Amino acid sequence: MSKYKTHYEDCDVLVVGGGMAGTGAAFEARHWGRDLKIVCVEKANIDRSGAVAQGLYAINCYMGMQWGENQPEDHVRYARNDLMGMVREDLGYDMARHVDSTVHMFDEWGLPMMKNEKTGRYLREGKWQIMIHGESYKPIVAEAAKKSADKIYNRIMVTHLLMDEEKENRVGGAVGFNMRTGDYHVFRAKTVIVAAGGASHIFKPRAVGEGMGRTWYAPWSNGSAYALPIAVGAKMTQMENRIVLCRFKDGYGPVGAYFLHLKTYTQNANGENYEKKWYDQTKELVGEYIDHHPTPTCLRNHAFIQETIAGGGPIHMVTTEAFQDPHLETVGWENFLGMTVGQAVVWASQNIDPKYTNPELTTSEPYVMGSHATCSGAWVSGPEDLSPPEYFWGYNRMLTVDGLFGAGDTVGGSAHKFSSGSFTEGRLAAKAAVKYIEDKKADGIKVTDKQCDDFKEAVFKPLETYTVAQNEITGGTVSPSYISPIQGLQRLQRIMDEYVGGIATNYMTNANMLKRGLELLAWLEEDLEKVGAEDLHQLMRAWELKHRAITSQCVTEHTMFREETRWPGYYYRGDHMKLDDKNWHCLTVSRRDPKTGKFTMEKVPVYHIVDEKEKKQAS
Ligand SMILES: Cc1cc2nc3c(=O)[nH]c(=O)nc-3n(C[C@H](O)[C@H](O)[C@H](O)COP(=O)(O)OP(=O)(O)OC[C@H]3O[C@@H](n4cnc5c(N)ncnc54)[C@H](O)[C@@H]3O)c2cc1C
Repeated sequence: MSKYKTHYEDCDVLVVGGGMAGTGAAFEARHWGRDLKIVCVEKANIDRSGAVAQGLYAINCYMGMQWGENQPEDHVRYARNDLMGMVREDLGYDMARHVDSTVHMFDEWGLPMMKNEKTGRYLREGKWQIMIHGESYKPIVAEAAKKSADKIYNRIMVTHLLMDEEKENRVGGAVGFNMRTGDYHVFRAKTVIVAAGGASHIFKPRAVGEGMGRTWYAPWSNGSAYALPIAVGAKMTQMENRIVLCRFKDGYGPVGAYFLHLKTYTQNANGENYEKKWYDQTKELVGEYIDHHPTPTCLRNHAFIQETIAGGGPIHMVTTEAFQDPHLETVGWENFLGMTVGQAVVWASQNIDPKYTNPELTTSEPYVMGSHATCSGAWVSGPEDLSPPEYFWGYNRMLTVDGLFGAGDTVGGSAHKFSSGSFTEGRLAAKAAVKYIEDKKADGIKVTDKQCDDFKEAVFKPLETYTVAQNEITGGTVSPSYISPIQGLQRLQRIMDEYVGGIATNYMTNANMLKRGLELLAWLEEDLEKVGAEDLHQLMRAWELKHRAITSQCVTEHTMFREETRWPGYYYRGDHMKLDDKNWHCLTVSRRDPKTGKFTMEKVPVYHIVDEKEKKQAS
C-alpha cells in the first residue's frame, strides 16, 4: 500500500459532496463558524457537479412569502398529499420556512431570475416553481462555497466514514482517494455533513447498450449518500419510496414546464384522456387519495402504466397546439437548453418537431433519492421547536450517529426540497454542526492510524485484485478470479429490475421475489470482494458499485417490510395490492448492524403536525 501516498487533513466541518446541499453547507458553516476549519470533498469538480451540473430552468421550491403567495404550511400539505401522507412534516416545514432566503441570495449572487413584467415578482411556472435562466446555476453556488470553505478538494471520491474509537457511535471523519493522482486522503473531522446526492443506476435503466448512461437522475449519483451512513449503522427511512418519472421518451426531458407553463396535456394513442379511464380501478386500490388535488404523482404514473399495459400506448404529450404560439415554442425549446440539451438532440435525431408531432412520453426506471418528489434517505433529528420527541435528538439534521449530519438527497422523509430546498437543508445542517462543535460534543475524538490504514488497504484492493487476476483472463474481460465494475453493475441492475419492482415487471414485486432478490444481492456482495479495477477510473466505478449495492440491499429490505402498496405507480406489492392505512400509516426505519450486516426494521409514527392543532380545536 505504500505506493499510494497518504495525505492527512484535520478539520472541524467536513462536507462530503459539493452539490446543492454541500455548497449550502459550506457557505453556512462559515457564517456560524468564523474560526472553524471547513473542508469540502467532491467526487467531480464543484463547478459542474451533481444533479444541477447542466443547469436548471426552474427553481422548484420557492414559497414567495414576501408576497403572501404561499406559506410553509401550504408546502407541508402539498408534500404530504403527494407522498400519500408519508412525510416528516417537521423537516418539510423547517426547510420551507427558510427556503425563500436561500433563493433571495441566489438572486443577489447573479443567478438570472425571470420576472413577471406586470407584478415585478419572480415569474411563476407553477404554484411552487419560479423560472430562471439557470445554465450557470451550479457555478454560481459553487463560487459561494469556494469563498467560504478553507479548502475544496475536487476529484476525490469518499469511500468510507471514519468512526471515533473513544466514544461509541460518534463519527470521526472520512477517507477517499483522488481519482487522478491515486493518492489516499484521510480527513479527520469533528463533524461530517454527508451531501452526496441520490442513487441512479441501481435499477436497470431503459437506455442500455449504446444508450447506457442516459438516465433521468444524474448518472454519477451513485448512492454514496446512503451507503456511507448505512455502513456505519445510521438509521434510514422510507427507502422503499423510490421514484418513477413520467418524462419525454429516450432523452428524459423534463415535463414540468410543459404541463405548467405551456399547458400541454397527455393522451393515449387514440387521442383519449386515459387518466379518467383508470379512476375507479385506482380508487379500489387507494381509496379517497385519488380524489386529492393535485393528484399525487404516483397515481398519475399509475394511470400511465395501466394504460400502457392495457395496450393504449404510446402515450403522447400534445405539444402541437401550444407550439403554434411563437412565445410558447421558444419557452419549450429554451427549457431544454437550460437543463437537458440531450432531449432536443434526441428529437432532432428522430425527426420530431414538437410543433407538428406530439412527442412520446415514457415512465422511467426507479431512482432513490430524498429531495425530489420522493423521500428516501437518512433518519435525522428535526428542529428543536417543531419536532415531537421521536423525531428529535439534539441537533437539527443529525443522523443517528453522533456528529454525522445530512442534507439534500441524503435526508429522508422530506420530499419536494429540490435544488433550493437542498441548498437550504445544507445550511440548516451546517448551522447545527457548528453548534455541536461549540457545545463541545466533538471533543476528544480518536481516530487511530490503524483505522486509516485498514481502510487504505480496502480502498485500493480492487487495483490489486486486477493486477493479480488479469493473468487469468480467458478472453476479453472474462476472468475466473475477478469481476469488473460493469459486470457487477449489470448484475445488480438486473436483480433490482427483475425482483425489486423495475421496468421488467412493470414495477411489480412481492415477498417471494424480494426474498430471492435479497439472496442474490447477498451473493453479489460476496463477489464484490473480488471486484477488479484496471485503473483509477475503474477504481471509482468499483466503489460506486459497492455503494450502489449496499443502497440496494436497504431498498429491498424496506420494500419487503412495508406490506402494502402505498404508492401505486412507483411500485406494486402484488401480494398486498391495496394501500393499508390501518396498518401502514407510518414511517419505516431500518438499521444495518455494521458488524453482522443484518438489517432490523421498525415502524415509527407519522405525525401530522400541520393542521393537527386546528383539527383538535374544531373537535
Ligand atoms: C434531471 C433533474 C432535473 C431536476 N430539475 C430540477 C428543477 O427543475 N428545479 C429544481 O429546483 N430542482 C431540480 N432537480 C432537483 C435538484 O437537482 C436536486 O434536488 C439537488 O441537486 C439535490 O441536491 P444534493 O446536494 O442532495 O445532490 P447533488 O446536487 O446531486 O450533489 C451531490 C454531490 O455529491 C457528489 N458525490 C457523490 N458521491 C460522492 C462521493 N462518494 N464522494 C464525494 N462526492 C460525492 C456528487 O458529485 C455531487 O456533486 C432536478 C434533478 C434532476 C436530476
